[in-house]
Amino acid sequence: MSPAVAKVEPLTTARVLRGPFDYQRPEGVGVGSLLEVPFGRQTLLGVVTGLAEESEHELAAPRRVLDHSLPPDLVELALWMAAEYCSTPARALTLVSPAPGARAKTALWAQALDVAGDVRLTDRQRALLASLPRFTGADTAALRRLEARGLVRIAPRTVRRAPVHTAVGARRPVPPPLTGEQDAALQAVLAAAPGEELLLHGVTGSGKTEVYLRAVARALERGESANVLVPEIGLTPQIVSRFAERFGDTVAVLHSRLGAGERHDEWARLRAGEARVCVGPRSAVFAPLERLGLIIVDEEHDASYKHEGDPRYDARAVAARRARLTGAVLVAGSATPRPESFHAMRRLRMGSRVDGARLPAVEMVDMREARRAMHPQTVHALHDSPKSIVLLNRRGWSNFLTCRTCGEVWMCPDCDVSLVLHRAEDLMACHHCGHREPVPARCDACGSVSIGRHGTGTERLEHELAAAGHPVFRLDADTRRAATVLAAFEQAPAGILVGTQMVAKGHDFPDVTLGVVLDADATLRFPDFRAEERTFALVAQLAGRAGRGRAGGRVLVQTIAPDAPSLAFAARHDSEGFLAGELARRAALRYPPFSTLIRIVCSSPAPGAAAAAAQAVRDVLPIPVLGPAPLFRLRGRERSQLVVKASDRQVAIGAVDAAVRGIAADRAHAAAAFSVDVDPQ
Ligand code: ADP
Ligand code: ZN
Ligand code: ZN
Repeated sequence: MSPAVAKVEPLTTARVLRGPFDYQRPEGVGVGSLLEVPFGRQTLLGVVTGLAEESEHELAAPRRVLDHSLPPDLVELALWMAAEYCSTPARALTLVSPAPGARAKTALWAQALDVAGDVRLTDRQRALLASLPRFTGADTAALRRLEARGLVRIAPRTVRRAPVHTAVGARRPVPPPLTGEQDAALQAVLAAAPGEELLLHGVTGSGKTEVYLRAVARALERGESANVLVPEIGLTPQIVSRFAERFGDTVAVLHSRLGAGERHDEWARLRAGEARVCVGPRSAVFAPLERLGLIIVDEEHDASYKHEGDPRYDARAVAARRARLTGAVLVAGSATPRPESFHAMRRLRMGSRVDGARLPAVEMVDMREARRAMHPQTVHALHDSPKSIVLLNRRGWSNFLTCRTCGEVWMCPDCDVSLVLHRAEDLMACHHCGHREPVPARCDACGSVSIGRHGTGTERLEHELAAAGHPVFRLDADTRRAATVLAAFEQAPAGILVGTQMVAKGHDFPDVTLGVVLDADATLRFPDFRAEERTFALVAQLAGRAGRGRAGGRVLVQTIAPDAPSLAFAARHDSEGFLAGELARRAALRYPPFSTLIRIVCSSPAPGAAAAAAQAVRDVLPIPVLGPAPLFRLRGRERSQLVVKASDRQVAIGAVDAAVRGIAADRAHAAAAFSVDVDPQ
């Protein structure tokens, strides 16, 4: 007899509500089925996470069984994710489920039947018949009249809403023959054991994408599917179109900017096996692929793989887990891999560029004596190079404003940070909460009209470079259409691409000969154990954008710390040396991958409540913990942080989850909110 009970996890965000709850099991329902179930007075969408023979409870019947279901391995993945990131099964299952509202779109499709010569038709009817079967449902009534006379047959058809990225037509370029290094890497991928994790450590321009494409082709030949994860899709449209060009309709794209309809259709095509390659950012790791043979994580060092909502999952760790669950091979690729990956994965090295070109020379520009944002040496170099990229990790015009008379600094009313001047929009903005206010004409405190603007952001830099006669293309979070800016820069015969770290992502512009990093120290100064890693990656990735063509290239790094090890290694293009040193440092300080970090942030609008809640969590935690330490006030909430640095990961996760749940349920701390971040970035 088949099990009579379905264990259902209702998809609610309430933390206190923990399933699964037992319901009657309708015919055909199994793990992964999506149901609408009565829940108190509500009807909730739920996922079946298990089946049972019997239950102690009286069972209600589900109201409806949805057409779509989740592959069972995704249910298992979500339950793992809930535990691993101290979240709830419902929240994790919500992330892996298709959007509940969306449905397939159907249109009428009409087919003309054999018409005897003597049928009398109006001209309009004749025109209508002649236009079949392209008929799209504009004049249904006329068509129905023809149907009634037996002249046409009408049926609903599903219409695919395809995302623009995949619309590449029939163009199928012939793949280039592989270089020796590419072929060796590909052979290693093809020979890897199920569940194995490989690091494709290839310098910028070594042709990692071609290795991915060949490995995906082989997975498809074996009847398997492939999942390709990329950083933000708006910044790297090139890679999506390369997959679509190579594999056509079997490629589906999943990302958050798709409309609900497009998303539904792409999801359904994957679920039905019509599409067997899914390309997308972080959340595409939950693509409903079956017989998964290969997971690729491109630019694996990219920070966008970490999700900042609850559960705070890391798509790289989820991908590795999914590979192990399904027996797929995981390939993570980067020119600047994370120390964690370098330490744990089997490495495949590609040390030279496809075209044999040398990596650009990287030179430090010592800014200790400099007076302006740009050193004269930088100004000259920009003048001599037709196409350049300039990176400055700061948006806006000036980073802060002060009163020259009394020293007042303009601060965000809701956060303890200074407001940034955006001159084009003529306003002051908080980069943490989005607060905006008019640019001040005088000081609120003393009435002085003498206001100082300090620091240079991308907006001011754009203005200064344009004033010096350069065509300038700006790319930062204030840019509405990143792809348009990138395309314009690519087509321009000369110019400078100016922006935040967005300009250093995997773009492939063959004619850029100069890269410049302004204020490299901003990243280096950041109080975080990953500061060195980030600085190295930033410089090395920017170097990767320069000198891809015949003309060669050069990179200038403006810094007041020209001897910093991360910069020196980047200048020598020595990522192995950097990683070896960084791993030794982390081992000595017991940082990841030699420990697990868990960050607990308590916040509250009530004065003192955040610190009290953090102290309470600390008091019940049975493991060593650092803090509470105050963080700056954000969105009107005081914040207090605890950090656990643990050698036993599972013990620490369990202890933190129990402690936070206990204190969160305590009425004395009702004013506080809690967020737990395992492996914070
Ligand atoms: P990476 O991702 O490693 O930085 P890309 O995948 O962007 O490098 O490849 C760099 C350039 O080299 C691309 O324009 C790509 O089309 C080209 N390319 C890749 N493999 C080959 C090959 N085997 N022969 C010729 N050109 C290649
Ligand atoms: Zn003043
Ligand atoms: Zn703010």
